[in-house]
Amino acid sequence: MTEPLLAWSDEEGAGRAAALFAAALGGEPDGVWASPGRVNLIGEHVDYNGGLCLPMALPHRTFAAVRRRDDDVVRLVSALAPDEAWTGTLGGIAPGLVSSWVAYAGGTAWSLGQAGHALGGFDAAIASCVPLGAGLSSSAAIECAVALALDELFDLGLAASGDAGRAHLAAVCVRAENEVAGAPTGGMDQAASLRATAGHALLLDTLDHSVAQVPFHLAEAGLELLVIDTRAEHALVDGQYAARRAACHAAAARLGVGTLREVDDLPAALAALPDPVEQQRVRHVVTEIARVEQFVALVRDDRVREVGPLMDASHESLRLDYEVSCDELDVAVVSARAAGALGARMTGGGFGGSAIALVEESSVGAVGAAVTEAFVDRGWPEPGLLIASAAPGGARVRPVPPP
Ligand code: ADP
Ligand code: MG
Repeated sequence: MTEPLLAWSDEEGAGRAAALFAAALGGEPDGVWASPGRVNLIGEHVDYNGGLCLPMALPHRTFAAVRRRDDDVVRLVSALAPDEAWTGTLGGIAPGLVSSWVAYAGGTAWSLGQAGHALGGFDAAIASCVPLGAGLSSSAAIECAVALALDELFDLGLAASGDAGRAHLAAVCVRAENEVAGAPTGGMDQAASLRATAGHALLLDTLDHSVAQVPFHLAEAGLELLVIDTRAEHALVDGQYAARRAACHAAAARLGVGTLREVDDLPAALAALPDPVEQQRVRHVVTEIARVEQFVALVRDDRVREVGPLMDASHESLRLDYEVSCDELDVAVVSARAAGALGARMTGGGFGGSAIALVEESSVGAVGAAVTEAFVDRGWPEPGLLIASAAPGGARVRPVPPP
């Protein structure tokens, strides 16, 4: 079994990013900023329906070593391709002008400009321990790490102003991902990466982007959250995501509501929809939002051990009604439950990516081994494993901020 992937400390992440900076771009960065990936506890595919979701920041972060420049040149390099630094200008980063990872790393600069913030050029070196494309939001982590750096280096004062400033930065990053990277995602990932606080899950209301910090201490209950990266990649995923969004928006229009959040009589809504596929999508969204409320109520009532069935129900709804699961995700949750998990579900957009399992501290190893064995038995690559705990949102890590 693959050992769980450990998160980098401030020192390790900052050291790696600064070393890459020196080697690929030359000299010292002005600082290093880090922002986390996230795992969504419950509330899937509701963030573009005005719904509630409950992500938490991972201890696994993306580190950006950044130096402000006096001209408009932008140089970007990632540890994934340390010999292939990208060089361009601020004006050369815009929708349609950049692609691949440069859109994520540089897109926030364009988006900050669109929001009226004055920036100059910059050099940035990126190193990350967030698994890429695993549904753990390495994309938001890279956007948010760069956004935090630019915020501070160009004296925008956003993160320093508290949650409202961080919410603004999150919206800027969402726009970068939607328009520069061309990924039509909702607002959950960036909110988690920037607005989460240590020891809390983030209850995000995507109708107005308000958040509540929900104390989330699994260790005190003798539990752990095991994240299983299926390493499965499926073709045509982008089209599927857009199709789900379109079906939800079409159903909302037919029901005469702004978003599916407003549906309060599910049977009546289902009866009013002639299309069985739209019925399924609406049933998932409406029941999933209700499950988030139930999950949060249990956690606030110190009954986190009882959330397992809600996780299981979420997975079934995503599998059967929303049709975004896949064999690898189903095998991960079924084998985790069989090995003693209290509950398990796919997390993130689906069609591959990761599953989460709520497990007794003492059985993390057994559950991880059982899932691994189930994958190997089917001839699939071993899944990646990591342990999630409720970590804080992004911040500068070097120079170390004053206490
Ligand atoms: P996820 O956000 O679940 O990891 P996405 O497909 O949304 O998956 O984002 C993955 C993309 O983000 C990568 O293909 C790459 O373009 C970009 N990316 C994320 N982290 C890095 C990194 N450290 N270096 C370069 N590109 C990165
Ligand atoms: Mg992403």
